[in-house]
Amino acid sequence: MKSEIFNFDSLGKLRELLQHADSIVITNHKNPDGDAMGSVLALYHFLRKWGYPSRIIVPNDYPEFLKWLPGQKEVLIYEGNQKEANDLIESADLIFALDYNALSRTGEMEEPLKAATGKKVLIDHHRDPADFADLVFSDITSCATAQMVFEMIENLELLELLDIDSATCLYTGLVTDTGSFRYSATTSKTHEVAAHLLEIGVENGLVHQNLFDNKTENVLKMRGHVLANNLVVLRDYKVAYITMSRSELEKFEAKSGDTEGLVNEALSIKGVVMAAFFKEDYNLIKISFRSIGDFPVNELSASWFNGGGHCNAAGGSSKETLQQTVERFIGVLPQYKEKLHATK
Ligand code: 5GP
Ligand code: MN
Repeated sequence: MKSEIFNFDSLGKLRELLQHADSIVITNHKNPDGDAMGSVLALYHFLRKWGYPSRIIVPNDYPEFLKWLPGQKEVLIYEGNQKEANDLIESADLIFALDYNALSRTGEMEEPLKAATGKKVLIDHHRDPADFADLVFSDITSCATAQMVFEMIENLELLELLDIDSATCLYTGLVTDTGSFRYSATTSKTHEVAAHLLEIGVENGLVHQNLFDNKTENVLKMRGHVLANNLVVLRDYKVAYITMSRSELEKFEAKSGDTEGLVNEALSIKGVVMAAFFKEDYNLIKISFRSIGDFPVNELSASWFNGGGHCNAAGGSSKETLQQTVERFIGVLPQYKEKLHATK
């Protein structure tokens, strides 16, 4: 299905799908981040005000730092609630797929979503959307799915249905996916959207506080530990990376989300163009990449670490050991040296 822009025709199709839907499900990707959670919750609040109640199903639990988002108690987590979630997915007439480009990004939900007979609407900003939806809104230039949800509502001429709850969720999506409005996909449009959300009453200071200033003492010590002991700077390549082993994660009782943002600490070193964070999960190494300028970490991740994402923020994984994964990373750097040095 070819991608549509938000215009009269495509939004007419959306209206039609909604009018024929008795049951609506909204989904996002595995290990949902701020944009994934913010955009599904915003769509949920908006649809409810518009007269279309829905259910949100997310593949697995989301980080503590998002557990204040308005409406988050309504979220059904697939992992642990398979029976109820499968029934909802199976009986849905309409399924929204937000912030992911392929059903494989939904983990265990992939099969039930594949088998689902309901119509699917994709709203996403990742590259190369797979062909699984009946209505596709894919904009790889957009900084956040939350921005796309705003633009959809704007083009529906229904901005008056946004309220403080949906606006707060959208603002959270913008802040988290743009690195607080700093990544290169942040445009004047992003700031216009943010301005509109502030006018609705979003308390931007409070959103930042909820997202970033909620660490426990233990987490801060863990971050201090890895910064002091596990940060490596490769000046020759303008690269910095941080590793975190299973035993360290266990020692500090780190939960999902506690390591969020560590990769940005590595990127904050003067002169560093690309940063990586390697985390030893139970059966794989999860990697976060960040970069500045036009150095495409999504391409590097896709080429070597089964991953992808955006130019300045990407992720991937490896089935090798932590040490082997880091060695492979260092091993591929020579071929990027020129580009790393050319990036400002
Ligand atoms: P993070 O480093 O915050 O986990 O991920 C940054 C971005 O990279 C995400 O927003 C997502 O777009 C992308 N990403 C993370 N992990 C993966 C992965 O395993 N595969 C792909 N294709 N993209 C990923
Ligand atoms: Mn996103």
